[in-house]
Amino acid sequence: MPVYSHSQLSTYEECPLKFKLCYRDKIKRDREGIEAFLGSMVHEALRKCYDDARRSRLNTLDEILAGYDSLWLKNWHDDIIISRKEMAADHYRASGKKMLETYYQRHAPFNRDITLGTEMWVTFSLDEANKYRLRGIIDRLSLTPDGVHHINDYKTSAHLPGQEEVDNDRQLALYQIGVQKKWPDIKDVKLVWHYLAFDRELVSARHPAEKLARLAVDTIKLIDEIEATEEFSPRESLLCDWCEYPDLCPNRKHFFTLEALPANEYLKEPGVVLVNQYAKLREEARKIDEETALVKEALVEYARRAGVTAIRGSDRQVRVKFDEKLKFPGRKEPGRKELDETIMEAGKWQEVSQLDTTALARAIQEELWDIKLIEKVVKHGSLEETSAVYLSKLKDDEK
Ligand code: SF4
Repeated sequence: MPVYSHSQLSTYEECPLKFKLCYRDKIKRDREGIEAFLGSMVHEALRKCYDDARRSRLNTLDEILAGYDSLWLKNWHDDIIISRKEMAADHYRASGKKMLETYYQRHAPFNRDITLGTEMWVTFSLDEANKYRLRGIIDRLSLTPDGVHHINDYKTSAHLPGQEEVDNDRQLALYQIGVQKKWPDIKDVKLVWHYLAFDRELVSARHPAEKLARLAVDTIKLIDEIEATEEFSPRESLLCDWCEYPDLCPNRKHFFTLEALPANEYLKEPGVVLVNQYAKLREEARKIDEETALVKEALVEYARRAGVTAIRGSDRQVRVKFDEKLKFPGRKEPGRKELDETIMEAGKWQEVSQLDTTALARAIQEELWDIKLIEKVVKHGSLEETSAVYLSKLKDDEK
């Protein structure tokens, strides 16, 4: 069984296909989002700051900022993606500087606690048999004067989570398990997130110990699910904009291919031609349907007023049939429950009910029934390939 990391687990939860491409197929990509790049540069600057402070060298703010600037320039590459079109690389670079400045002003001379390690690797297992192993990197482990160990995590994100969100965060809680396995004498631990853009510290403590035990059980379950997965399907979300694998994803591949084409060629691309044709026809069909419904209504009204049931045109005629139809409440409409009960009580249910094959297929696919019953029922069905075509508008930044 491979050694998992928190980021592998969350990548699987975000999108199983991305997980497979990245961690199973090990397809490496240079593409990275600027947010991740900014995060690495700020982390590196803070790491240097604390490492030097441990050796009694206090960097000035100017030194830290100059170091950050040179890291930025040295590591910058052309495959960094800026998804928000209104933003430029310099906006991100400046925001990193601002975060470091604010952090420095609040924490210099960095002696509020003792730094035990920066960018510390922890590898540990979740079970006695050593089967479910995890690894991770702690941004900074520190010991406060009152004997509490802090697992510090630096966040450069533009989203400030609420207390409930950090209380349920998996990453640092897993690191706590790792730290306490490595040093069993460590009893008092706090998880501390430094949200640098907001100059805020969020703190969470995982007491009682059962909470961590529960987390270990849930994480083992998730690892079992990943290990048992055979089909790693794509799962679209807002995070797709930052995905490194658009060229290998069935949901994004076509978009990615088109980005490389000049506008005149792009419009001739067979997929684009078909979608445009389909959209045009659907629009025309929608208009025709609307007009047909209006004309149909007018014909009925005409027939009613004129007292006729046949209306002649140039080479066609329309017949209008007036009739009365018995109507019963639909599945979710008021009165339906009582109607069903009346029929059931009379023992007539079989005569008027039909098997809902869609509900049946769902019950089987989602394994809602006992497996023996599913196996029995499934023998009466067969698999057939289906397809569906959905038309929707592109987002503004995709046009
Ligand atoms: S683009 Fe989205 S759906 Fe496709 S692999 Fe990436 S994250 Fe998954």
